[in-house]
Amino acid sequence: MSTKRQPKRVPAAPEPPRAGSPSTATPASVRQVNRAILLNLIRMHQPVSRIQLSALTGIYRSNVSFIVEELLAEGLVREERGRPAGRGRVPMFLSLNPDGCRVVGVSIRAAETVAALAGLTGRVLDSAAFRTPKTPKAWLEHFRRAIEKLCGGARRWAAGIQHICISVPGMVNHASGEILWMNALPGYAGFGLREKVQEMTGVPATVANDCHLATTCERWMGDISAELRNLVFLEVGDVGVGAGMIVNGELCTGHNSTFAAEFGHMVVDPSGPPCNCGRRGCWELFVCDRATWKHFDASTEFTESRFEELIRQARGGDRRAVRAFQTTARRLGLGISNITLVLNPETVILAGRLTEVWGIIAPPIEEALAALPGRPRLRPARMPAEELFLHGAIRQALSGLFARPRLG
Ligand SMILES: [Zn+2]
Repeated sequence: MSTKRQPKRVPAAPEPPRAGSPSTATPASVRQVNRAILLNLIRMHQPVSRIQLSALTGIYRSNVSFIVEELLAEGLVREERGRPAGRGRVPMFLSLNPDGCRVVGVSIRAAETVAALAGLTGRVLDSAAFRTPKTPKAWLEHFRRAIEKLCGGARRWAAGIQHICISVPGMVNHASGEILWMNALPGYAGFGLREKVQEMTGVPATVANDCHLATTCERWMGDISAELRNLVFLEVGDVGVGAGMIVNGELCTGHNSTFAAEFGHMVVDPSGPPCNCGRRGCWELFVCDRATWKHFDASTEFTESRFEELIRQARGGDRRAVRAFQTTARRLGLGISNITLVLNPETVILAGRLTEVWGIIAPPIEEALAALPGRPRLRPARMPAEELFLHGAIRQALSGLFARPRLG
Protein backbone atom coordinates (compact mmCIF):
# COMPACT_ATOMS: atom_id res chain seq x y z
CA MET A 1 0.00 0.00 0.00
CA SER A 2 1.21 3.49 -0.81
CA THR A 3 1.59 6.23 1.73
CA LYS A 4 2.68 8.77 -0.88
CA ARG A 5 0.88 12.03 -0.42
CA GLN A 6 -1.47 13.06 -3.18
CA PRO A 7 -1.83 16.79 -3.92
CA LYS A 8 -5.20 17.92 -2.64
CA ARG A 9 -7.13 20.76 -1.09
CA VAL A 10 -8.91 20.62 2.22
CA PRO A 11 -12.54 20.69 1.16
CA ALA A 12 -14.68 23.45 2.61
CA ALA A 13 -16.96 22.44 5.47
CA PRO A 14 -20.34 21.43 3.99
CA GLU A 15 -23.05 24.05 3.67
CA PRO A 16 -26.49 23.38 5.15
CA PRO A 17 -28.95 21.85 2.68
CA ARG A 18 -31.06 24.33 0.75
CA ALA A 19 -34.74 24.34 1.43
CA GLY A 20 -36.68 22.56 -1.28
CA SER A 21 -33.69 20.58 -2.55
CA PRO A 22 -33.84 17.27 -0.69
CA SER A 23 -31.12 14.72 -1.34
CA THR A 24 -30.88 11.08 -0.38
CA ALA A 25 -28.02 8.88 0.72
CA THR A 26 -26.16 6.98 -1.99
CA PRO A 27 -23.54 4.26 -1.35
CA ALA A 28 -20.88 6.94 -2.02
CA SER A 29 -22.37 9.40 0.47
CA VAL A 30 -22.69 6.67 3.12
CA ARG A 31 -18.99 5.93 2.60
CA GLN A 32 -18.17 9.65 2.98
CA VAL A 33 -20.06 9.78 6.27
CA ASN A 34 -18.26 6.66 7.51
CA ARG A 35 -14.94 8.05 6.30
CA ALA A 36 -15.41 11.23 8.38
CA ILE A 37 -16.46 9.13 11.39
CA LEU A 38 -13.40 6.86 11.07
CA LEU A 39 -11.01 9.80 10.58
CA ASN A 40 -12.41 11.44 13.72
CA LEU A 41 -12.10 8.18 15.67
CA ILE A 42 -8.49 7.77 14.54
CA ARG A 43 -7.87 11.37 15.74
CA MET A 44 -9.44 10.68 19.13
CA HIS A 45 -8.15 7.14 19.79
CA GLN A 46 -4.81 7.00 17.97
CA PRO A 47 -2.97 4.67 17.81
CA VAL A 48 -5.95 2.45 16.98
CA SER A 49 -6.30 -0.78 15.00
CA ARG A 50 -8.74 -1.55 12.19
CA ILE A 51 -10.40 -4.14 14.43
CA GLN A 52 -10.89 -1.55 17.17
CA LEU A 53 -12.38 0.88 14.65
CA SER A 54 -14.82 -1.81 13.55
CA ALA A 55 -15.77 -2.51 17.18
CA LEU A 56 -16.16 1.21 17.97
CA THR A 57 -18.44 1.87 15.00
CA GLY A 58 -20.14 -1.41 14.17
CA ILE A 59 -18.92 -0.98 10.57
CA TYR A 60 -17.88 -4.32 8.95
CA ARG A 61 -14.13 -4.89 9.02
CA SER A 62 -14.01 -5.15 5.23
CA ASN A 63 -15.68 -1.75 4.91
CA VAL A 64 -13.35 -0.25 7.53
CA SER A 65 -10.38 -1.59 5.56
CA PHE A 66 -11.73 -0.16 2.30
CA ILE A 67 -11.92 3.34 3.79
CA VAL A 68 -8.60 2.99 5.65
CA GLU A 69 -6.85 2.07 2.39
CA GLU A 70 -8.28 5.24 0.85
CA LEU A 71 -7.02 7.36 3.79
CA LEU A 72 -3.58 5.72 3.56
CA ALA A 73 -3.38 6.37 -0.18
CA GLU A 74 -4.21 10.04 0.42
CA GLY A 75 -1.51 10.27 3.08
CA LEU A 76 -3.96 11.35 5.78
CA VAL A 77 -3.20 8.43 8.09
CA ARG A 78 -0.30 6.07 8.61
CA GLU A 79 -0.20 2.51 9.81
CA GLU A 80 2.62 1.12 11.92
CA ARG A 81 3.30 -2.15 13.63
CA GLY A 82 2.69 -2.11 17.39
CA ARG A 83 4.87 -3.70 20.03
CA PRO A 84 4.73 -7.49 20.20
CA ALA A 85 2.74 -8.69 23.22
CA GLY A 86 3.46 -12.38 23.65
CA ARG A 87 2.92 -14.85 20.82
CA GLY A 88 0.84 -14.33 17.74
CA ARG A 89 0.61 -11.63 15.12
CA VAL A 90 1.77 -8.14 16.04
CA PRO A 91 -1.15 -5.81 15.37
CA MET A 92 -0.96 -2.75 13.10
CA PHE A 93 -2.05 0.61 14.47
CA LEU A 94 -3.39 3.65 12.67
CA SER A 95 -2.69 7.29 13.52
CA LEU A 96 -3.09 10.62 11.77
CA ASN A 97 -0.16 11.55 9.54
CA PRO A 98 0.94 14.97 10.90
CA ASP A 99 2.43 15.73 7.46
CA GLY A 100 -0.76 14.72 5.66
CA CYS A 101 -1.89 18.29 5.36
CA ARG A 102 -0.67 21.88 5.90
CA VAL A 103 -3.03 24.62 7.01
CA VAL A 104 -2.60 28.13 8.43
CA GLY A 105 -4.63 29.46 11.36
CA VAL A 106 -4.56 33.21 11.98
CA SER A 107 -5.73 35.21 14.98
CA ILE A 108 -6.18 38.96 14.57
CA ARG A 109 -6.22 40.83 17.89
CA ALA A 110 -6.30 44.59 18.43
CA ALA A 111 -2.57 44.74 19.21
CA GLU A 112 -1.06 41.72 17.47
CA THR A 113 -1.77 39.21 14.72
CA VAL A 114 -0.43 35.65 14.96
CA ALA A 115 -0.27 33.26 11.99
CA ALA A 116 0.50 29.60 12.68
CA LEU A 117 1.37 26.78 10.31
CA ALA A 118 -0.08 23.45 11.46
CA GLY A 119 -0.26 19.85 10.30
CA LEU A 120 -3.16 17.41 10.21
CA THR A 121 -3.12 16.85 13.98
CA GLY A 122 -3.50 20.60 14.57
CA ARG A 123 -0.08 20.87 16.21
CA VAL A 124 1.62 24.22 15.52
CA LEU A 125 4.79 23.71 13.46
CA ASP A 126 5.84 27.34 13.10
CA SER A 127 4.36 30.75 13.73
CA ALA A 128 4.85 34.40 12.81
CA ALA A 129 3.52 37.47 14.62
CA PHE A 130 3.22 41.13 13.70
CA ARG A 131 1.71 44.28 15.15
CA THR A 132 -1.85 44.62 13.81
CA PRO A 133 -1.95 47.76 11.63
CA LYS A 134 -4.90 50.14 11.62
CA THR A 135 -5.85 49.47 7.98
CA PRO A 136 -6.62 46.13 6.32
CA LYS A 137 -4.48 47.04 3.30
CA ALA A 138 -1.39 47.32 5.51
CA TRP A 139 -2.46 44.11 7.29
CA LEU A 140 -2.44 42.22 3.99
CA GLU A 141 1.16 43.30 3.34
CA HIS A 142 2.27 42.12 6.81
CA PHE A 143 0.35 38.88 6.32
CA ARG A 144 2.09 38.29 2.97
CA ARG A 145 5.46 38.50 4.75
CA ALA A 146 4.25 36.17 7.52
CA ILE A 147 3.19 33.56 4.95
CA GLU A 148 6.58 33.90 3.24
CA LYS A 149 8.31 33.23 6.55
CA LEU A 150 6.11 30.21 7.32
CA CYS A 151 6.72 28.74 3.87
CA GLY A 152 10.49 29.24 3.95
CA GLY A 153 10.82 32.21 1.58
CA ALA A 154 9.12 34.02 -1.31
CA ARG A 155 10.11 31.31 -3.81
CA ARG A 156 8.02 28.77 -1.94
CA TRP A 157 5.07 31.19 -1.72
CA ALA A 158 2.08 29.51 -0.04
CA ALA A 159 3.49 26.16 -1.21
CA GLY A 160 1.58 23.22 0.18
CA ILE A 161 -0.88 25.28 2.26
CA GLN A 162 -4.30 23.77 1.79
CA HIS A 163 -6.53 26.11 3.75
CA ILE A 164 -6.27 29.38 5.72
CA CYS A 165 -8.70 30.36 8.47
CA ILE A 166 -8.66 33.81 10.08
CA SER A 167 -10.15 34.59 13.49
CA VAL A 168 -11.33 38.18 13.94
CA PRO A 169 -12.53 39.96 17.11
CA GLY A 170 -15.73 41.30 15.60
CA MET A 171 -18.78 40.68 13.50
CA VAL A 172 -18.21 38.75 10.29
CA ASN A 173 -20.37 37.52 7.47
CA HIS A 174 -19.43 33.85 7.78
CA ALA A 175 -20.71 33.11 4.27
CA SER A 176 -18.82 35.86 2.40
CA GLY A 177 -15.86 36.38 4.74
CA GLU A 178 -16.49 40.12 4.91
CA ILE A 179 -15.74 41.96 8.16
CA LEU A 180 -18.87 43.83 9.20
CA TRP A 181 -17.78 45.49 12.42
CA MET A 182 -14.76 45.47 14.71
CA ASN A 183 -14.82 47.71 17.74
CA ALA A 184 -11.06 47.60 18.26
CA LEU A 185 -10.19 48.05 14.57
CA PRO A 186 -12.90 50.22 13.01
CA GLY A 187 -10.91 50.72 9.79
CA TYR A 188 -11.52 47.05 8.85
CA ALA A 189 -15.33 47.35 8.62
CA GLY A 190 -16.65 46.45 5.17
CA PHE A 191 -13.37 44.76 4.13
CA GLY A 192 -13.75 41.54 2.12
CA LEU A 193 -10.94 39.76 4.00
CA ARG A 194 -11.56 36.25 2.69
CA GLU A 195 -11.61 37.35 -0.94
CA LYS A 196 -8.42 39.43 -0.60
CA VAL A 197 -6.52 36.64 1.18
CA GLN A 198 -7.63 34.10 -1.42
CA GLU A 199 -6.62 36.45 -4.26
CA MET A 200 -3.20 37.07 -2.70
CA THR A 201 -2.36 33.48 -1.72
CA GLY A 202 -4.32 31.37 -4.17
CA VAL A 203 -5.40 29.27 -1.16
CA PRO A 204 -9.03 28.73 -0.05
CA ALA A 205 -9.74 30.82 3.06
CA THR A 206 -12.35 31.18 5.79
CA VAL A 207 -12.97 34.15 8.08
CA ALA A 208 -14.88 33.73 11.34
CA ASN A 209 -15.66 35.40 14.64
CA ASP A 210 -13.07 34.59 17.32
CA CYS A 211 -15.53 33.30 19.94
CA HIS A 212 -17.37 31.16 17.40
CA LEU A 213 -14.04 29.51 16.58
CA ALA A 214 -13.25 29.10 20.28
CA THR A 215 -16.62 27.42 20.78
CA THR A 216 -16.02 24.83 18.08
CA CYS A 217 -12.44 24.37 19.31
CA GLU A 218 -13.67 23.47 22.80
CA ARG A 219 -15.98 20.90 21.26
CA TRP A 220 -13.22 19.53 19.02
CA MET A 221 -10.90 19.00 21.98
CA GLY A 222 -13.55 17.15 23.94
CA ASP A 223 -14.17 13.45 24.24
CA ILE A 224 -15.92 12.25 21.08
CA SER A 225 -17.89 9.68 23.08
CA ALA A 226 -19.49 12.54 25.01
CA GLU A 227 -19.80 14.90 22.05
CA LEU A 228 -21.32 18.17 23.20
CA ARG A 229 -24.45 18.96 21.20
CA ASN A 230 -25.63 21.99 23.22
CA LEU A 231 -22.92 24.29 24.45
CA VAL A 232 -22.56 27.95 25.38
CA PHE A 233 -19.11 29.59 25.39
CA LEU A 234 -18.55 32.96 27.08
CA GLU A 235 -15.33 34.94 27.00
CA VAL A 236 -15.14 37.75 29.53
CA GLY A 237 -12.70 40.39 28.30
CA ASP A 238 -11.51 43.88 29.29
CA VAL A 239 -14.53 45.71 27.96
CA GLY A 240 -17.02 43.10 26.79
CA VAL A 241 -18.26 39.52 26.61
CA GLY A 242 -17.75 37.45 23.46
CA ALA A 243 -19.81 34.32 22.98
CA GLY A 244 -20.67 31.37 20.81
CA MET A 245 -23.24 28.61 20.99
CA ILE A 246 -23.70 25.14 19.59
CA VAL A 247 -27.35 24.13 19.35
CA ASN A 248 -28.26 20.55 18.46
CA GLY A 249 -24.71 19.91 17.29
CA GLU A 250 -24.47 22.96 15.02
CA LEU A 251 -22.67 26.26 15.56
CA CYS A 252 -25.34 28.92 15.42
CA THR A 253 -24.45 31.96 13.24
CA GLY A 254 -27.95 33.34 12.71
CA HIS A 255 -30.25 33.30 9.70
CA ASN A 256 -27.93 35.39 7.49
CA SER A 257 -24.61 33.97 8.77
CA THR A 258 -23.66 37.23 10.47
CA PHE A 259 -24.24 37.13 14.20
CA ALA A 260 -25.78 35.12 16.99
CA ALA A 261 -25.08 34.53 20.68
CA GLU A 262 -24.41 38.22 21.37
CA PHE A 263 -25.32 37.60 24.99
CA GLY A 264 -23.09 40.45 26.14
CA HIS A 265 -25.57 42.90 24.64
CA MET A 266 -28.63 41.69 26.52
CA VAL A 267 -29.95 44.83 28.21
CA VAL A 268 -30.12 44.31 31.95
CA ASP A 269 -30.61 47.98 32.95
CA PRO A 270 -32.31 50.28 30.40
CA SER A 271 -31.12 53.32 32.34
CA GLY A 272 -27.58 51.95 32.69
CA PRO A 273 -24.41 53.29 31.08
CA PRO A 274 -24.20 53.62 27.27
CA CYS A 275 -22.76 50.65 25.38
CA ASN A 276 -20.78 50.79 22.13
CA CYS A 277 -23.63 48.87 20.44
CA GLY A 278 -25.74 52.04 20.73
CA ARG A 279 -27.96 50.82 23.58
CA ARG A 280 -27.75 51.27 27.33
CA GLY A 281 -27.13 48.93 30.25
CA CYS A 282 -25.89 45.86 28.35
CA TRP A 283 -24.91 42.84 30.49
CA GLU A 284 -21.25 42.98 29.44
CA LEU A 285 -20.86 46.43 31.03
CA PHE A 286 -21.52 44.84 34.44
CA VAL A 287 -19.34 41.73 34.14
CA CYS A 288 -16.30 42.70 32.02
CA ASP A 289 -12.87 43.08 33.65
CA ARG A 290 -13.28 46.87 33.77
CA ALA A 291 -16.48 46.39 35.78
CA THR A 292 -14.68 44.06 38.21
CA TRP A 293 -11.98 46.69 38.62
CA LYS A 294 -14.66 49.30 39.34
CA HIS A 295 -16.14 47.06 42.04
CA PHE A 296 -12.68 47.08 43.61
CA ASP A 297 -11.62 50.70 43.10
CA ALA A 298 -13.92 53.14 41.29
CA SER A 299 -11.49 56.02 41.81
CA THR A 300 -8.72 54.77 39.49
CA GLU A 301 -8.70 53.79 35.84
CA PHE A 302 -8.58 50.14 34.76
CA THR A 303 -5.27 48.96 33.31
CA GLU A 304 -4.17 45.44 32.45
CA SER A 305 -1.36 45.52 35.01
CA ARG A 306 -3.71 46.75 37.75
CA PHE A 307 -6.13 43.95 36.90
CA GLU A 308 -3.34 41.38 37.05
CA GLU A 309 -2.44 42.70 40.48
CA LEU A 310 -6.11 42.42 41.49
CA ILE A 311 -6.12 38.74 40.46
CA ARG A 312 -2.96 38.20 42.49
CA GLN A 313 -4.51 39.84 45.54
CA ALA A 314 -7.73 37.83 45.23
CA ARG A 315 -5.73 34.62 44.99
CA GLY A 316 -3.85 35.69 48.09
CA GLY A 317 -7.14 36.05 49.96
CA ASP A 318 -7.45 39.86 50.04
CA ARG A 319 -11.07 40.36 51.13
CA ARG A 320 -11.78 43.46 49.02
CA ALA A 321 -10.34 41.82 45.91
CA VAL A 322 -12.32 38.62 46.55
CA ARG A 323 -15.54 40.66 47.02
CA ALA A 324 -14.98 42.46 43.68
CA PHE A 325 -14.83 39.11 41.84
CA GLN A 326 -17.80 37.76 43.81
CA THR A 327 -19.91 40.79 42.75
CA THR A 328 -19.02 40.16 39.09
CA ALA A 329 -19.70 36.43 39.52
CA ARG A 330 -23.22 37.05 40.89
CA ARG A 331 -24.01 39.21 37.85
CA LEU A 332 -22.47 36.63 35.57
CA GLY A 333 -24.61 33.97 37.26
CA LEU A 334 -27.76 35.99 36.67
CA GLY A 335 -27.03 36.30 32.95
CA ILE A 336 -25.99 32.64 32.61
CA SER A 337 -29.21 31.55 34.35
CA ASN A 338 -31.22 33.56 31.78
CA ILE A 339 -29.24 32.04 28.90
CA THR A 340 -29.79 28.58 30.40
CA LEU A 341 -33.54 29.08 30.55
CA VAL A 342 -33.58 29.99 26.85
CA LEU A 343 -31.15 27.40 25.46
CA ASN A 344 -30.91 24.62 28.06
CA PRO A 345 -27.24 23.85 27.25
CA GLU A 346 -25.42 20.78 28.61
CA THR A 347 -22.32 22.83 29.34
CA VAL A 348 -21.40 26.47 29.84
CA ILE A 349 -17.72 27.25 29.32
CA LEU A 350 -16.16 30.42 30.68
CA ALA A 351 -12.94 31.93 29.32
CA GLY A 352 -11.07 35.09 30.22
CA ARG A 353 -8.64 36.19 32.89
CA LEU A 354 -11.24 36.02 35.65
CA THR A 355 -11.15 32.21 35.34
CA GLU A 356 -7.75 32.45 37.06
CA VAL A 357 -9.78 32.88 40.27
CA TRP A 358 -12.17 30.01 39.47
CA GLY A 359 -12.45 29.00 43.12
CA ILE A 360 -13.86 32.46 43.90
CA ILE A 361 -16.19 33.00 40.92
CA ALA A 362 -17.63 29.48 40.46
CA PRO A 363 -19.67 29.25 43.74
CA PRO A 364 -21.80 32.41 43.15
CA ILE A 365 -22.45 31.35 39.52
CA GLU A 366 -23.38 27.80 40.60
CA GLU A 367 -25.68 29.29 43.21
CA ALA A 368 -27.53 31.27 40.52
CA LEU A 369 -27.95 28.07 38.47
CA ALA A 370 -28.89 25.80 41.38
CA ALA A 371 -32.65 26.17 41.15
CA LEU A 372 -32.88 25.76 37.36
CA PRO A 373 -34.53 22.62 35.99
CA GLY A 374 -31.84 21.81 33.41
CA ARG A 375 -28.78 22.87 35.36
CA PRO A 376 -25.78 22.96 32.98
CA ARG A 377 -22.26 21.88 33.80
CA LEU A 378 -20.07 24.95 34.34
CA ARG A 379 -16.37 24.77 33.61
CA PRO A 380 -13.42 26.98 32.67
CA ALA A 381 -12.04 26.88 29.12
CA ARG A 382 -9.24 24.40 28.43
CA MET A 383 -6.75 27.15 27.54
CA PRO A 384 -6.45 30.95 27.62
CA ALA A 385 -8.82 32.72 25.22
CA GLU A 386 -6.03 33.96 22.90
CA GLU A 387 -4.84 30.37 22.38
CA LEU A 388 -8.38 29.14 21.81
CA PHE A 389 -8.90 31.70 19.03
CA LEU A 390 -5.73 30.59 17.22
CA HIS A 391 -6.35 26.86 17.71
CA GLY A 392 -9.99 27.39 16.73
CA ALA A 393 -8.81 28.90 13.44
CA ILE A 394 -6.47 25.93 12.84
CA ARG A 395 -9.26 23.47 13.63
CA GLN A 396 -11.63 25.29 11.30
CA ALA A 397 -9.03 25.20 8.52
CA LEU A 398 -8.89 21.40 8.96
CA SER A 399 -12.62 20.93 9.43
CA GLY A 400 -13.44 20.07 5.83
CA LEU A 401 -11.53 16.79 6.23
CA PHE A 402 -13.28 15.75 9.42
CA ALA A 403 -16.80 17.04 8.72
CA ARG A 404 -19.54 14.66 7.77
CA PRO A 405 -21.29 15.56 4.52
CA ARG A 406 -24.80 16.89 4.99
CA LEU A 407 -27.69 15.00 3.54
CA GLY A 408 -31.14 16.36 2.81
ZN1 LIG B 1 -24.43 46.64 24.00
